[in-house]
Amino acid sequence: MNDHYTQKITAGHLKRDAYLYVRQSTIRQVFENTESTRRQYALRQRAVSLGWPVERVIVIDSDLGQSGAAGVDREGFKKLVSEVGLGHAGIVLGLEVSRLARNSTDWHRLLEICALSDTLILDEDGLYDPSHFNDRLLLGLKGTMSEAELHVLRARLQGGIRNKARRGELKSPLPVGLMYNQQDHVVLDPDRQVQQALRTLFETYERAGSACAVVKFFREQSLLFPRRLRRGPNKGQLVWGPLGHTRVLQTLHNPRYAGAFVYGRFRMRKNRNGRNSVQKLPQDQWHTLLPDTHPGYITWEQFQQNQQRFREYAQAYGFDRRKSPPGQGPALLQGLVVCGICGQRMTVRYHSRKGRLDTNYLCQRHGIEYAQPICQSIPGAGIDQAIGELLVQMMEPVTLEVALTVQQELQSRLDEADQLRHQQVERARYEADLAQNRYMQVDPNNRLVADSLEADWNDKLRALTEAQERYEQQCQADRVVFDEQRKARVLSLATNFPRLWRDPQTPDRERKRMVRLLIEDVTLIKTKQITAHVRFKGGSTQTLTLPIPLSAGELRRTGDDVIREVDRMLDHHTDAQIASRLNQRGLRSGTGGAFTSPIVARIRRNYQLKSRHDRLRDAGMLSACEVARTLNVSTNTIKIWRTHGLLRAYVYNGKNECLYEPVNGNVPCKSQGRKLSERRRFPEVPPNRTNEVQHAT
Ligand SMILES: [Zn+2]
Repeated sequence: MNDHYTQKITAGHLKRDAYLYVRQSTIRQVFENTESTRRQYALRQRAVSLGWPVERVIVIDSDLGQSGAAGVDREGFKKLVSEVGLGHAGIVLGLEVSRLARNSTDWHRLLEICALSDTLILDEDGLYDPSHFNDRLLLGLKGTMSEAELHVLRARLQGGIRNKARRGELKSPLPVGLMYNQQDHVVLDPDRQVQQALRTLFETYERAGSACAVVKFFREQSLLFPRRLRRGPNKGQLVWGPLGHTRVLQTLHNPRYAGAFVYGRFRMRKNRNGRNSVQKLPQDQWHTLLPDTHPGYITWEQFQQNQQRFREYAQAYGFDRRKSPPGQGPALLQGLVVCGICGQRMTVRYHSRKGRLDTNYLCQRHGIEYAQPICQSIPGAGIDQAIGELLVQMMEPVTLEVALTVQQELQSRLDEADQLRHQQVERARYEADLAQNRYMQVDPNNRLVADSLEADWNDKLRALTEAQERYEQQCQADRVVFDEQRKARVLSLATNFPRLWRDPQTPDRERKRMVRLLIEDVTLIKTKQITAHVRFKGGSTQTLTLPIPLSAGELRRTGDDVIREVDRMLDHHTDAQIASRLNQRGLRSGTGGAFTSPIVARIRRNYQLKSRHDRLRDAGMLSACEVARTLNVSTNTIKIWRTHGLLRAYVYNGKNECLYEPVNGNVPCKSQGRKLSERRRFPEVPPNRTNEVQHAT
C-alpha cells in the first residue's frame, strides 16, 4: 500500500507544502462533532508519515461553522484554491475530500486546478493524483455522490417538513402573543399584558380602519407593544417598546393571529451573490392554510376583511411611489425629491386651488411610521419653476459643451478603431507579400511546392481583399452613424430643449421624463428660505435658494394703508359707509374685489380695531334705554324724538341703530303743544346706510 503511495509522491511534491483543510459545516458540528475534528487533525500525522515535515503542513480551518452549500462566503476554501493554483501545494488533505466543496462545480474546478498544478489529494480512503484519468474519475464520482447525498438529505428533510405542515403539525416560530403549551398546542400567551396589547391593536384597527391610526393611538396613550427576541443570548425574552407602523402591518397580515395554521407564505430565492431573497406569495399560493386550528385574537372572517381592506387601499395609493413612473400630475420632481433633514424620499401631495393643481412635497414616511408630525412640507410650484428655468438655462452652454465632448470622444474612439482595423489590413497585405515572395523564390520546376505556395499566396490575397473591404465598409458605417444621426441628435437637443420645455402643448409627463434624463435627485430643505440641491446625472451639482411662497392667507392680506384708513374712518363712519368711501377712492380688497360692509367688519375684527359702537360709548354716548331712563320717557319716544331731530344721535351699524348724546338742559318734553317737526333742533339722522353722516360738532 505504502509502495502504491510512494509511487505517486515525488520529490517535486515534497518540495511544496501540504494543506490540511478542516471544515465543519455548522456551529453545532463544531461543538458536538469533536470526533470528526479529531480525525481531521489526525490526517496531519498521515502527511508527516508520507514525508512532509510537520511545520510544512498548513492547516486551513477558517471555514469552521460555515455551510459548504455555497462557495461564496468561504474564505478558507478560496484560500485553498488560490494556493493550489499558485503551485504552492504539493498535496491537499481532507477527511472526505469530496466534501471540501459541497457543490459539484467548485469541486470539479478544484480537481482541474490540482491536475494542472500537479497537486495530490489525500483522504482517509487513499491518495489520488488528479492528473491520472482513473483517479480523477474516482474523485469526480465522489464529488457527484456527495452532492447527491446532500440533495437526498435535503429532499427528505424538506419532504418531512412539508408533510408535517400539510397536517398542520409543524412547529414553527410563533409571533408574539401566541406560544406552545407543554402538549405543543398553540395557545394565547398567558401574559395578560401581552394579550391586552394585541387586543388593543386589533380593536383600534377595527375602529379606526388604518394602521397609522393604530400607531397614533398607541403613541398618544403612551402604550408599549411586546416583541420577543428571536436570537442572541436573551432569545425568547419579552421586550416592550413603542409600536411602529411596520409592526402593525406585520401583525395585521399574520394569519396566525386569526387562529390559522399556515406554511409557505414566503419563497426563498438565492440571488447571484449567494444571498437569500424573500418573496411574499399571494394567499392562493401558500403551501398550507388551515383556518381555525388554534385560538387567535381575531376570527378568520375578520382577517379576510382586513386583507380585503388592504387590497383596496393598495389600489388607491399604489405600492410605493419611490420608483413610480412619471404620473400625469404637474409635480415635476415626483420621485426625485429627497428630504434634506432626514434623508428620506419625499412624496407628492396635490391640492386644488382656483381650479388648478398645486403641488406640495412632503416628507412623511417617518411621520407615518411613528404617527408624528410630518418632517417637512414644501410648496412645490416655485421649486418646479426654478428647476425648469435652471434646466433651460443650463441646456444651451452645457449641451454644446457636452455635444463637443461627445463628438471628440466619439471621434477619438473611431480613430482608434480605425487604426486597429487599418493594422489588420496592413498585416494581411504583409502576409500576402510574404506569400508572394515565397512563391517567387521557389524553383518553378518543383511543381509540388510551387503549387502549394501559389495556393497559399492566393489565400493571402483573398484575405487581404476581404480585410480591405471590411475596412471600407466599417469606415462608411461609422461616418453614417456619427455624422448623420448622432451629431444631429446631440445638437438638436441643445436647440430643441428650451422650445420643447416651454411649449404649453408638452404634457407634464414628458417634461418629467426630460427631468429624469437630466437630474439624479433634488434635496430640499426649508428654513427661512427653501434650499434645493440639484444633483445632475453624471455628478455635477447646483444649489438653488428660493423664498418661501406666501400662504393663501398672506396672498389675500389687506394692505396696511387700507387698515390704517379703516381705523381712522371708524371714528365717524359705519362699516357700510367706510366700504363705500374706500370704493369711491378706488381701493381694492385683498382678493382684488370691491369692499363691502362684511369685509370691513372682518378687517375690523381681524386687526382688532375698536368698533364704531365702542368708540361712541368711549366718547360718553348713551343707549336709547339709558336716555329714556334719564328723561323718564319710553324708548319709543326717544326714537321718535331722534327721528324728528330733538335729540342728537349717531348711527353705529347697518341696522340704523344709534347712540345718543347725553341731554344737558333744554330737555325736550312731551305734549308741548307744538308739532314735532317744528321743534327740530338737530339734523335728522338719515336712514340710508351707505350715505355719509356728517354731524356738525
Ligand atoms: Zn424628512
